[in-house]
Amino acid sequence: MSRTRIHSEVDFAKDGKQSAFLRLPHSVHRSAYGWLPMPITCIKNGKGPTVLLVSGNHGDEYEGQVTLMKLTRRLQADDVKGRVIILSAANYPAAMAGMRTSPIDQGNLNRTFPGNPDGGPTQMIAHFIETVLLPMADVAIDLHSGGSSLMYIPSALARRAKNKAQRAKTMKLMEIFGAPVSMLIDAPQGEDRTLTGGAERVGVLHMGTELGGSGTVTPGALAVAEKGTARLLDHFGVLRKPLHNEKPGKTRLVVVAGPSYYTYAPDNGLFEPYVELGDDVKAGQAAGAVHFPDTPWREPTIAHFERDGVVVCKRIPGRTERGDCLFHLGSDYIEK
Ligand code: ZN
Repeated sequence: MSRTRIHSEVDFAKDGKQSAFLRLPHSVHRSAYGWLPMPITCIKNGKGPTVLLVSGNHGDEYEGQVTLMKLTRRLQADDVKGRVIILSAANYPAAMAGMRTSPIDQGNLNRTFPGNPDGGPTQMIAHFIETVLLPMADVAIDLHSGGSSLMYIPSALARRAKNKAQRAKTMKLMEIFGAPVSMLIDAPQGEDRTLTGGAERVGVLHMGTELGGSGTVTPGALAVAEKGTARLLDHFGVLRKPLHNEKPGKTRLVVVAGPSYYTYAPDNGLFEPYVELGDDVKAGQAAGAVHFPDTPWREPTIAHFERDGVVVCKRIPGRTERGDCLFHLGSDYIEK
């Protein structure tokens, strides 16, 4: 596979704070030799670990983007020992459009890894992250949220590693991040097209989040993101002094392990939820109803939970189609 076609204006080996652009080649009718300006910041000060911070992997997930824009302005070279790389609008065309996927090639960046240097913009970005940014990093934090269609209890997220020591390491990160919920998720079957998968292939410690969602930013979710990210930077040893001294709140550690944790719309229509975020539910319990505005005399179709658990995520738009995710659950984690 050929080398990346993305040119970095930032020299990652140079000490100091640099904010500039990754030049993503984009030759189109209005701009024959043009490139898309993906903002990136590298703050380096001597020897130490490298932390890669990413948001805007999905363009309509805003809490992480606000957190990393503020951190971009706040962190100076004197604050750092080692290197912090901030990519706050990872799928830049999607972030600029406020969409989950790229309006240019419809690419979902977090379903595109390991990417392709000869592909479209989203493929090129995934390839750059996996072959240029991740290999420089000791740890990668990827800040997601529920986006336009989902709302989460602010959560940290990590792979449930089979290796006990590895699992303990990621669980420690989630404890330090201190979101109300921390989710351990099993790796997908077959090929892994997420940034998490890329980090695993490269051998980089990784933690993600699901901070909130609904295509908005709340002060509560933002506080979780900002304080947690700052605590993690301090934990990784990349700061000369902590950005704040607030201890993490207690987190509820849950596992999300397969299709039975998800409840989907059984029909097309208008969704009436029966439960709220944070509710504990039982297998077989009614989750919500789908009503039919075109035939209001028809009885609604009822969706049911397939297992016991706590509701960590819910659908936001009222209109729904068969196959849309309405809820997903977590179940309290017990170390075996
Ligand atoms: Zn996302």
